[in-house]
Amino acid sequence: MHINISDVSISSEEHALVSQVLQSGNLAQGRIVAELETKFGDLVGAKHVVATSSGTTALQLALEVAGVGPGDEVITSPFTFVATLNSILTRGAIARLVDIDPVTFNVRPDLVEGAISDKTKAIMPVHLYGLLADMDRIRHIAEKHNLRVVEDAAQAHFATQGGYSAGTLDLGCFSLYATKNLSAGEGGLITVQNAADSDRLRVLRNQGMRNRYEYVAVGYNYRLTDLAAALALAQLPRLSDVITARRRNAAFLTSALRDLPGVVAPSVPTGYAHVWHQYTLRLSQEAPLTRGELADVLAAHGVGTGIYYPKILPDHRVFAEHPNVIAGNLPDARRVASEVISLPVHQGLSDTDLHQIADAVTGAFKGR
Ligand SMILES: *Cc1c(COP(=O)(O)O)cnc(C)c1O
Repeated sequence: MHINISDVSISSEEHALVSQVLQSGNLAQGRIVAELETKFGDLVGAKHVVATSSGTTALQLALEVAGVGPGDEVITSPFTFVATLNSILTRGAIARLVDIDPVTFNVRPDLVEGAISDKTKAIMPVHLYGLLADMDRIRHIAEKHNLRVVEDAAQAHFATQGGYSAGTLDLGCFSLYATKNLSAGEGGLITVQNAADSDRLRVLRNQGMRNRYEYVAVGYNYRLTDLAAALALAQLPRLSDVITARRRNAAFLTSALRDLPGVVAPSVPTGYAHVWHQYTLRLSQEAPLTRGELADVLAAHGVGTGIYYPKILPDHRVFAEHPNVIAGNLPDARRVASEVISLPVHQGLSDTDLHQIADAVTGAFKGR
């Protein structure tokens, strides 16, 4: 049996709600999108939620209402999915990339504060793999320097740090892409704390219209469809069970693998609740095999793996040469990018699957 790195399983609830939308004849943005916004906001504890066509368009719109435009600087991580950086650059803004903590994989608050200049408008922490960046300290830094915070919470629905839930400080951007913990195929959600931002986001996502053919801004078509929203809305009641299953799977993998030589299993700092979008190991120099060799052995044993992400963003030529990408010294991010490998952790794994994964990894180490 092959075990995929991600699991897209659609249950009868999704089938039922999607066919209800098909029968209603209203496929575009309507009642189902509104219901998804309300329910997600209630669950996460956000005052307002604005749905968009993707996590990327959520980030773009959030930066726009945060006042980020040409020449403004945004501080973020170099070790993330490309959408984080693209959303900043497509605003014409400047991205300042700071190094990460190799244990949490997230930006270091001290380096964030050190990168602030007169041009800084916003901080964009990325909650990589489903673990929050240190939002306690980022909140203090943002308040002290009067900066907006746009959280890239694309991988971190319902992740928490103490009593703080992802996306509830200022603006939070979630993805509903097919493989994310909550999925609509494609889609995004912006959590918003202030009514004026929420109103502006609704106008911007819908061609700058407040009412039909009443144009009040230059806008976009970044709407989510009811058809897609039905998938996410039907999954929403199950999301906490999905997270519980992922936590259990992660705990199993860590106890099975943490003592292997050269394996740095992911660890969760005290007070944080991880939602395990990915379960990501680091393989250090002491490991008897490379991550490519490990991936090959696992593939031969029917276990899919992923590398998120093989290089830091400023090491891609398009960004290395980009005048609006400012990368300082990034030794930890660069090293981590060469060491990570993700194993399946999704809610679809059975006990047999978990043993198959652990045995395959252990076996790969024994054979060396
Ligand atoms: C998935 C993802 C995005 C973009 O979301 P899309 O819905 O694919 O546009 C942004 N940032 C991170 C960290 C992501 O993982």
